[in-house]
Amino acid sequence: MAGAGWAPPQLEDFILTERLGSGTYATVFKAYRKRNVREVVAIKCVSKKSLNKASVENLLTEIEILKTIRHPHIVELKDFQWNKEYIYLIMEFCAGGDLSRFIHTRRILPEKVARIFLQQLACALKFLHEKNISHLDLKPQNILLSSLDKPLLKLADFGFAQHMSPRDEKHVLRGSPLYMAPEMVCNGQYDARVDLWSMGVILYEALFGRPPFASRSFAELEEKIRSNHPIELPRHPRLSQECLDLLQRLLKRDPQQRISFKEFFAHPFVDMEHMPSAESLGKATSLVMEAVKKDQQGDASAALSLYSKALEYFVPALRYETDARRKEAIRSKVSQYISRAEQLKGLVSSNNKVLLQQGIPARDILKEMSKDKPCLYAALELASAAVAREEEGKDDYETLDLYQQSLGDLLRMLAAEPAGRRRELLHAEIQALMGRAEYLKEQIKMKESQWEAESIGKEGILDSARGSCILQ
Ligand code: ADP
Ligand code: MG
Repeated sequence: MAGAGWAPPQLEDFILTERLGSGTYATVFKAYRKRNVREVVAIKCVSKKSLNKASVENLLTEIEILKTIRHPHIVELKDFQWNKEYIYLIMEFCAGGDLSRFIHTRRILPEKVARIFLQQLACALKFLHEKNISHLDLKPQNILLSSLDKPLLKLADFGFAQHMSPRDEKHVLRGSPLYMAPEMVCNGQYDARVDLWSMGVILYEALFGRPPFASRSFAELEEKIRSNHPIELPRHPRLSQECLDLLQRLLKRDPQQRISFKEFFAHPFVDMEHMPSAESLGKATSLVMEAVKKDQQGDASAALSLYSKALEYFVPALRYETDARRKEAIRSKVSQYISRAEQLKGLVSSNNKVLLQQGIPARDILKEMSKDKPCLYAALELASAAVAREEEGKDDYETLDLYQQSLGDLLRMLAAEPAGRRRELLHAEIQALMGRAEYLKEQIKMKESQWEAESIGKEGILDSARGSCILQ
């Protein structure tokens, strides 16, 4: 093991400078290539002593594979060397430090930022999953930031875990039980799904500032890991339903019940579809073209919906664009579309008001018919509260939550409702409420996209002074 007082080792082609960090198995130094001093790299020195003997060969083969991997969210392994005592991995240098430090200097990350980070990690995980590679040691210390100024996350330190000395208590202690899936710690029987658990822990820590099993003593930690209570999510800060749902499904102790890789990549909170990419702008543009067509045909509500979908691609397109002039051109287009969407919204919402008013009598009749069934009555009251909030102009997550809660309850009751007039009315009411909730969700997203599109490039990228951090 590399101790803290380690002198940088001598390597023929490199000048080693400061120590960047040390983790479980290795010490990492910043270095320059002698032939090209502008090439900064990070060199990871792994002591062969910390490897189990049979593994050295395997490890070298594996490193050979890792060398062929190129992905924007995976630390690039440029080369490797070895001598009697050490293996040296020559890697891309990441100037932004690791995610652990990033989170803890900010205490917690806003949901928006955590989501952007999660998307990047999911993207790397998907790439690895398709190649049948598991990380097995995912944790904030093994996730690096390319820079602090325009942070891109990069997965580091993988392909190692299975080569380390036999698993024993000490090994588990050296690794990080805080991030390890319970099945890994408890019975040593595990598979790729442990990476999904760790993703859940990382997201949890980013949002709440500490991992779910944070403990004051090892005994307490062990108890938490071995318990079979479901992981409880703190109530503060308040998070979106989608985010909470994902956390709950990643942090299932039983890997059989845990979200699958496929479901994870498709989860609405991960939303890989709307990641900044070369395709974002094209998708946004073709949606705008459809919106314009609908607008010309006089279908305000379809046009509004298309503009709002287009905006969801424009925001990542703006993030993706690096050229300042092109960025500005997109932004000015976007603000035109936003003003048109605003006008359309005025039209659509006055139509909606009429519909909302028309809906009231039906709901009142339904309520009248539900007096003998308090739970149905209560769910309808909840729906009325949502509609009332919306009528007051409160198109926010709280209103959406009310809609979703009442819809959840009503759908359950519909399933148990016998055929008859009340069932028909209930069915119609649910459909109307679903339409409302969908529209509201679109409006909220549009407001957010608008806000984001306006803020990209205008504010500091990492505005930690205000406790928030906006990523370009
Ligand atoms: P270990 O296998 O010992 O855990 P890691 O690869 O996780 O080693 O590296 C240990 C620490 O060194 C990381 O947490 C990070 O702070 C720093 N580090 C590692 N790789 C790089 C790099 N490419 N650029 C900058 N810092 C790095
Ligand atoms: Mg590490």
